[in-house]
This record gives sequence, C-alpha cells and structure tokens, in this order.
Amino acid sequence: MLTADQLIDLEELIVAELERVRSESDSSEKEREAISPDVSIGRLSRLDSMQMQEVAKEANRRREERVVRLEVALDQLDEGIYGRCEICGKDIDFERLRITPEASRCSQCA
Ligand SMILES: [Zn+2]
Repeated sequence: MLTADQLIDLEELIVAELERVRSESDSSEKEREAISPDVSIGRLSRLDSMQMQEVAKEANRRREERVVRLEVALDQLDEGIYGRCEICGKDIDFERLRITPEASRCSQCA
C-alpha cells in the first residue's frame, strides 16, 4: 500500500507533469502555425517540412495520450484506487510510480 505521504507526492508529480506536457503541446501548436502554407518553397524542402509535420503530429499524438493517462491517474487518486496493477491487482512499486506516475501495470506485468 502507498502511504498518504507517497500519494501526495505522486499527485504533485502528476499535476506538474500534466502542466509540463500541456505547455509543450501549446508551444508546438504555435510552431506549426508559424509555417505558412503560402510560402513558396522547393519540392525537397516541402517534403522536409511535411516530414517534420508528421513527426510533430506523432509527438503531439503521444503527448495527448500521455495527458489522458495522467488524467486517469488523477481520477484514480481521487477514487482511492491509484497504484494498483490492472493485470494482477497488486500494488505498483512507489519507485516505479515516481518515474512513470501514469503506470497502470506493475513491473512484472508491464
Ligand atoms: Zn501486475
């Protein structure tokens, strides 16, 4: 079982991480807007920028997934069911949660 202190610790971690991930996606959103489609660029650099947009889109998708997982973790904290492995039902190690607070599986089941 996680202690109350550990839970508070992890909640702070999740909130901070959520803020960080959200601010990251805000700034990448602005970067994308900065690339104007009207700018005439060569075929190669157009391809380059398309690939970069794909990479940015993928990074964004991962960030959004992470936000959802972190929000789920917060909900679980509220409900008092946080830190339990979704596979075997055992408690996830505090050390593991400190590194990946949105982890939903223990190290054995991951
Ligand atoms: Zn497990």
